[in-house]
Amino acid sequence: MQTVIPRSPLGPWLSREGVAQPGAAENCASDGTNCASDGTENDAGATSNRARTYGFGLRPGPFATDSTRVPPAPPTIRRDAAAAPYPDRAADRDRWILARRGPRPAHDLRQPHAAFVETERAANGEIVPVLTVLLTSRECPWRCLMCDLWQFTVEGNIPPGAIAGQLRAALATTAGATPRPRQLKLYNGGSFFDPRAIPPADYPAIAAQAVGFDRVIVECHPTLVGRRTLAFQDSLATQAAAANRVTPALEVAMGLETAHPGVLARLNKRLTLDGFRRAADFLREHGLALRVFILVKPPFLSEPEALEWACRSLDFAFDGGASVAVLIPPRPGNGALEALAAAGDFAPPKFATLEAALAYGVGLRRGRVFADLWDLERFADCPACFAARQERLVRTNHEQIVQAGPACPVCGSAQPAAL
Ligand code: SF4
Ligand SMILES: [Zn+2]
Repeated sequence: MQTVIPRSPLGPWLSREGVAQPGAAENCASDGTNCASDGTENDAGATSNRARTYGFGLRPGPFATDSTRVPPAPPTIRRDAAAAPYPDRAADRDRWILARRGPRPAHDLRQPHAAFVETERAANGEIVPVLTVLLTSRECPWRCLMCDLWQFTVEGNIPPGAIAGQLRAALATTAGATPRPRQLKLYNGGSFFDPRAIPPADYPAIAAQAVGFDRVIVECHPTLVGRRTLAFQDSLATQAAAANRVTPALEVAMGLETAHPGVLARLNKRLTLDGFRRAADFLREHGLALRVFILVKPPFLSEPEALEWACRSLDFAFDGGASVAVLIPPRPGNGALEALAAAGDFAPPKFATLEAALAYGVGLRRGRVFADLWDLERFADCPACFAARQERLVRTNHEQIVQAGPACPVCGSAQPAAL
């Protein structure tokens, strides 16, 4: 079931977010954007500073989500820039990635990109309707190698009132959805707690509209998890109390991407595993749930390495307290991945790798593990068995039991029972 708000002719919204690491200006983008753009302390640092100040300890930890999917965007590759090799120096990577971008479409801040209802298995095992709203927001200050979300954002700051208005529009459009959505995902193509993207002044109005949902899920770079996260949590409680309703649980989705330290560094997320742990600890110590996005096959890894590191990343996510992990196959579309592919440094994962990673994660029984099924046809390597294997992934997502299937008579593939 899917209700889509018609909107700008945009394409894919890889519902993902990224992770960055605490600390300093290096975490911020090359456009001069300060990650702590409200003029206060950097929340990355704030994560640790708060811990010291208030006595809680720390550690760290889209997109996408298992459920974010909108039609693919047109290619935006700058062919003339494709030949230069990906830089070894972190300082050169932003420029390399930006040089491969195409033009940014115009956007209307009065409307979200899309809103749709899907189903997802909740922590108690129920299959519940979830309303996902893809907010039109300010571009993320990071420049991750595999990210194409900038195409669905604007360059300037977001004025107060715009995001709350977009949510109002989404809720009006999906008001008739039955059964009524129980959870609300607010994804903005960046970080919900980036004050230039989601003005904190909007928190009360957003929270007031979220009251009535069991759970609110937002995405955020680990560096920006901190005091604004707590402020939004407070807003949810305040608005729920005013309405005499139960406070929605708050869940924060963070992109780990990979637990491979070297590859993580090359993804240009300005994130370390320690930084991810600190943010994850912060969430846990404040009673906030953690959802983790994991790339099934990031650039620079072979197929066997990709599976091994997807499994290690699942271990890392659950060690950090995740209640949900989402396995996302990277999809070309931002120009940079196409350039890496041409150089032999990137290829999408095989369908079997996604299946095997999901089987491993589900078999851990440490939390829910979902495969991101958006645009899965891209990864179909055998037309004879694709539909049946896709259906098995859907059932595995819902039942959290690996779905066995007969070997394909054409390619011989069979869903692994477990790793
Ligand atoms: S560029 Fe921003 S939105 Fe994209 S993956 Fe990185 S942190 Fe997330
Ligand atoms: Zn087959």
